[in-house]
Order: sequence, then C-alpha cells, then structure tokens
Amino acid sequence: MWFLYATCEVPEPQAAQPIGWIGVDLGLANIATTSTGYRAAGRGLRRYRERKRQLRRKLQAKSTKATKRVLKRQRRRETRHAAQVNHVISKRIVAEAQRTGRGIGLETLTGIRERVRLRKPQRATLHSWGFAQLGLFIDYKARRAGVPVAFVNAHDTSRTCRRCGYVDRNNRVTQAEFRCRSCCFVEHADVNASHNIAAKAAVAWGRGAQSMAPTLE
Ligand SMILES: [Zn+2]
Repeated sequence: MWFLYATCEVPEPQAAQPIGWIGVDLGLANIATTSTGYRAAGRGLRRYRERKRQLRRKLQAKSTKATKRVLKRQRRRETRHAAQVNHVISKRIVAEAQRTGRGIGLETLTGIRERVRLRKPQRATLHSWGFAQLGLFIDYKARRAGVPVAFVNAHDTSRTCRRCGYVDRNNRVTQAEFRCRSCCFVEHADVNASHNIAAKAAVAWGRGAQSMAPTLE
C-alpha cells in the first residue's frame, strides 16, 4: 500500500487596519480575560487536573507494566484535554475580533514565563506551556482569519491603573482585586490588565512594531 504525503500552502489573508484592540490577559486563576468582557475561568481545568493528579498518585503507588501503560495514556489524554480547552478559548477570541474588526493584543510569552516563574517554580513548566499554546493558537487562528495580532511586553500591565496610569505594585490588592492608590479606581485585576494590554497593542501597532509569532521552547 502506498501513501502520498503532500503539503499545501494556504495563503494568509492580509490583515486589515483594525478599528480597535482586544487585549488578552492570560493567567492562572482565569486562563484568559479580554478587555471586551470575555473571561475563561481556569477553575474547570484546575479541577480536572487535580482529579488526574490524584488518579496518577494512586497508579504510581503500584508500579507495574500495566499501570505504567495506563499512566502514559492518562498523560496523553490530559494534554489533549488542555489543548481542546485552548482551542475553544482561542476560537472564541479570534471570532469576536473578526466580527468586530478589531486586532488582538497578547503578552509576549517571555513575559508570561517570567511572571509564572516568580510565583511557583515547580508549576511553571506545565502552566507556561499552556499559556504558550494558547498564545500560539490565538496567533495562528488570527492569521488565518486576517485578524492582526500585536505582541506586547506585559511588564507592569497588572500593576498600572488603566484610568490614570499610576503604577504601583500595591494597586493590586489581591489576586482578583485592583484598587488604584492614586485615583481609587476599582476593577477586577485581570480586566484592568487586559485593557492595558489593549492600549499597548494599539501603540505597538501604530509604531509598526508588529511582533513576531511566539515560539515554544
Ligand atoms: Zn488610577
């Protein structure tokens, strides 16, 4: 039997001039939060992972050939599930951008990695991989749809007040709450950050500094 492998190039539509930007904040508590009001909570995925972790622990207790095989299958299934979640989220964000004629502002992946590393070193690999994949999915779906993407440095986006511009790490009271020390502006921290990312994306695009696609390391 013969198989023919052929590749074909699909031309990307030229990205149009956007009439605005959707800023996307990626995080652990919320996988993605956009400046246009969409939030993908991470709770479901965290619970799923926790269940899988417990199952793995049980299986690891008796290390036989059979359990090793099951473990391997479980890991593959978990990876597929996480990818599926990322597909759903990225599809939704890109569809909205396309429908409303907007571009998408994303944090550069190095920024995401730094941020995650600072918090919990052991978890960094898995989570930063998840972020990187979501970024990649958004990027390639956007390219296919002719939606412009701008990658911005996420430095200070979570501690800057999007109303008055005041930067202070104490602006972020808790994981979820942003409260500006200068103008008393209050908002969900991820929402505030997503607006800052949208603003940065507009500036970056205006400068013609459309960033390169992220790469997985
Ligand atoms: Zn303020």
